[in-house]
Amino acid sequence: MKALILVDIQNDFVPGGALPVPEGDRIIPLVNALQSKFDLVIATQDWHPRNHGSFTANHPNKKPGDQINLNGLPQILWPVHCVQNAPGAALVPALDTRRISRIFQKGTDPGIDSYSALFDNGHLKATGLGEFLKQRGVTDVFLAGLATDYCVKFTALDAIQLGFKTHVIEDACRGVNLKPDDVAMAIEEMKAAGVQITNSSNL
Ligand SMILES: [Zn+2]
Repeated sequence: MKALILVDIQNDFVPGGALPVPEGDRIIPLVNALQSKFDLVIATQDWHPRNHGSFTANHPNKKPGDQINLNGLPQILWPVHCVQNAPGAALVPALDTRRISRIFQKGTDPGIDSYSALFDNGHLKATGLGEFLKQRGVTDVFLAGLATDYCVKFTALDAIQLGFKTHVIEDACRGVNLKPDDVAMAIEEMKAAGVQITNSSNL
């Protein structure tokens, strides 16, 4: 049983959005074409309240990219993005949503961020996605979406820990690259943890 998880393909993460991932929109045709190859398709949304602790705007004298301590965890500050129910948080209109069985939302607690679609960054609470996949007999999790070096990476690392065979479809993802090697390092880190890095042409 193979599930495709579409990570954070939201307006704010593509060019024109508040926190655009370079070429983030380029994955959409590929992601649409891939969906029919999977038994189950799930999407995730970054879904923050306006007072979220990851927003630079909520910390005086800080700028995007600064690192702070947020309730005991290191936190990179980002521009305001993916505010609940705002247009920027909506899935990209060009994304085919007809086969998406369920959308899981993350980052809803103002006091902690959640890069992974499975757990918050402190591993304090599960989103319910892991349980949902296990209940449906999913053995293999395939990830596509944004961004390779944040939400895709942390979702992949958590999926491995939960015992799923985990695959990242590299050409169906794009990264932020705050530092130029971040995506390359994320790929290496995922490989080292046992994540299969694959390509859409192999599916
Ligand atoms: Zn966020």
